[in-house]
Amino acid sequence: MELEILLKEYTKLLEEIEIMKKDDSVVKYCCLQEKREALYEQLRTIYIQKKLQEYNSCNHLWVEMPGEEHSPIYVNAVGCIKCGIDTGLRKRKKKLEDMSLEEQAIMEYSKVGINRSLDFIDVVCDLNLGRAIFNKINEQYPGLDNRTLAQYFVTALNDIRGIEVNEERQKSRAKRLGLSKDFKSWK
Ligand SMILES: [Zn+2]
Repeated sequence: MELEILLKEYTKLLEEIEIMKKDDSVVKYCCLQEKREALYEQLRTIYIQKKLQEYNSCNHLWVEMPGEEHSPIYVNAVGCIKCGIDTGLRKRKKKLEDMSLEEQAIMEYSKVGINRSLDFIDVVCDLNLGRAIFNKINEQYPGLDNRTLAQYFVTALNDIRGIEVNEERQKSRAKRLGLSKDFKSWK
C-alpha cells in the first residue's frame, strides 16, 4: 500500500517536472547552468595548468607549519612561502569538491610527490603569515636567493613575534601584510 502511494506521488512529480521543462525561464535556467559548468571546467583546467607551471618553476623555500605537537609520530606539514604549496592538505582530507582551485592545483602537484628536503627555514610558522612576509620582502628585494631570503625572513618574523601589540595594532599589522583582519596565528 505504501509503495502504491509513493509511486503515485513520484509519477505526479515527474509530470510536474515535464511541464516545468517547457517553461521558457526554466529552459533558459538549464541552458545557463550547462554553460556555467562548461566554462568552469575550462577555467579550472587552465588555472591548474598555470599553477603547475608556477609550482614546477618555484625554487621552494619551506617553513614548518603548526601541527599537533603532542603527537610524537606526527610529522608536521611544510609549506612553501613563495608559491604556497602546503603538504598538509592531503592529510586534512578535504573532499575535492570542497577545495578551492588553488587547493585542487596543490593536490594535483602533490601527485608527483613533493621534494621537501631542499631549502628549509627552521621555524614553525603559519603559511599565510609566511607568504605575507615573503611578499613584503620580495616587493622590496625581488629575486633574492633562498639563503639570503631565509635570513631576511627570520629577522622579519622575529621582529613581528618579539613585539607584543594590542588587538588594534594587530589588526592594522595584519592589514599592512595583506592578511585578513581577524588573523591570529602570529606565534
Ligand atoms: Zn614554492
